[in-house]
Amino acid sequence: GSTIGIVGGGQLGRMTALAAARLGYDCQILTPEVDSPAARVAAGAIVAPYDDPAALTAFADAVDVVTFEFENVPAPAVAWLAERRPVRPGWRVLETAQDRILEKTFLNDTGIGTAPWRPVHGPDDLRAALAELGTPAILKTTRLGYDGKGQGRVTAADDPAAAWESLRTDAAILEGVVDFAMEVAVIVARGPDGVTVVYDPVRTVHAHHILDTVEAPAPLPAPLLDQARALARRAAEALDLVGLLALELFVTRDGRLLANEMAPRPHNSGHWSQDGCVTDQFEQHVRAVCGLPLGPVALRGRSVRMKNLLGDDAATWAALLADPAAKLHLYGKREARAGRKMGHVTWVET
Ligand code: ATP
Ligand code: MG
Ligand code: MG
Repeated sequence: GSTIGIVGGGQLGRMTALAAARLGYDCQILTPEVDSPAARVAAGAIVAPYDDPAALTAFADAVDVVTFEFENVPAPAVAWLAERRPVRPGWRVLETAQDRILEKTFLNDTGIGTAPWRPVHGPDDLRAALAELGTPAILKTTRLGYDGKGQGRVTAADDPAAAWESLRTDAAILEGVVDFAMEVAVIVARGPDGVTVVYDPVRTVHAHHILDTVEAPAPLPAPLLDQARALARRAAEALDLVGLLALELFVTRDGRLLANEMAPRPHNSGHWSQDGCVTDQFEQHVRAVCGLPLGPVALRGRSVRMKNLLGDDAATWAALLADPAAKLHLYGKREARAGRKMGHVTWVET
């Protein structure tokens, strides 16, 4: 087929559509957002809620294959699409990744370690979980959290009932705090034929719970890098993934890898690959979803750095354009709210 349907209208969809265009594909976007970053670079967009029947029909009719730039799509809508078009990745992958209880259960069942965790559905559960895991601990909503929204630290001084109320949810998990030496992320691509390609694991540094900078490759000994790649590959195979999967990992001070979460789509930790890698993650996503051979992922240069540009940083864009070593990527968002991801910049060290 020659038209890719992308569910979601954000910057990940925009950059996927730009990569798809380079390979001769058109993209149709399905998003509730008017004038979205992805729609403005695509062949067309259907603006409607994800579960609108007329919109889903029009979307399915307009595309040859469906993928996602956003995993929080209602499962029935995805199942409906899957009866009409190949949907890559499939709805079970989305379902697993959009719920922290299913996600952590999957990871542990697949032999991938995580922080100790407990499901929490009310203040009594929370009290019991705190008694088992100790304090401080991190309470996270099972669904819809991102950039650290929907989570909070619970200390011994906190009242569990108040901590539960403040989260405003009916389902959460409590996690033990990992005293990590470093955070890393690794992206694996897998095609419909089961062939996988894994990117170099990268170091991720967060500021105020939002990804701030990425360093590729991660400064870790080769055996740990290999272990991180193997975990991502194992997860992709266990999910029977077609597309991309990003796995976020903690490296503990005693050199163990614990999974934090995963995302079945292009990921902010992979933006470095646009300038630092032979095949970037967005092109790789298109290749995987369209059943094309996957591309090589060798580094272009010795190392690469990526920094996110948030709404607060607009004043720095001109200086970045003047830096001959910097490559600026902007998402065309109309409103530069504080903390909102507006773009990113990469530096390739040759
Ligand atoms: P994202 O924007 O990556 O989707 P998110 O809102 O889903 O973020 P997490 O990835 O769960 O949230 O957590 C955000 C960050 O908070 C982590 O990258 C890490 O720095 C810190 N964090 C989360 N869980 C733990 C933990 N159990 N122990 C220590 N730090 C943690
Ligand atoms: Mg997340
Ligand atoms: Mg995360």
